[in-house]
Amino acid sequence: MVCTRSRPACDNCPLQNGCDAYANNETSLYPGSKPKKAKPEKTTWMVILEDHQGRILLERRPPSGIWGGLWSLPELDPAYGPEELSDACEQAFGFHCGEPELTSGFRHTFSHYHLHIQPARLTVQSPAHINDRDSYKWVHRDQALTLGLPAPIRTLLTAPEQTLLL
Ligand code: SF4
Repeated sequence: MVCTRSRPACDNCPLQNGCDAYANNETSLYPGSKPKKAKPEKTTWMVILEDHQGRILLERRPPSGIWGGLWSLPELDPAYGPEELSDACEQAFGFHCGEPELTSGFRHTFSHYHLHIQPARLTVQSPAHINDRDSYKWVHRDQALTLGLPAPIRTLLTAPEQTLLL
């Protein structure tokens, strides 16, 4: 009640006699700054599904939450191994894909966590099985760039693709 965090009022302090900081003339060292809390790390697959016309599939994010309402790339559970991505796409979207081509991953930092984004490109071999719906859209890349995209997705779609060397 007699001091503040940055200006201890030692002369009026009832604890002065037993205070090591005061005795050692180290009152400016306390309280130390709080250790920075490490942000949680999350990982996701982001799939670039390309059909035979060169269009890619975008998915609209839910209206609230991270990237709310923006168009993004479909995500798959990071628990899938690269060799399972083709089957995972078939289960998720109902069409058959070729083998995935992994490209360089990157990390995006949100206010409360880091997201490791691992992109994988797959060629869709049966494109008729999914149509444009409210939350999905087949677009050519140049069209995609006219839509509201999260910044890392825009970067991903414009950056030259580098095959990931594992
Ligand atoms: S540094 Fe020690 S003596 Fe000074 S106000 Fe804080 S507790 Fe009291």
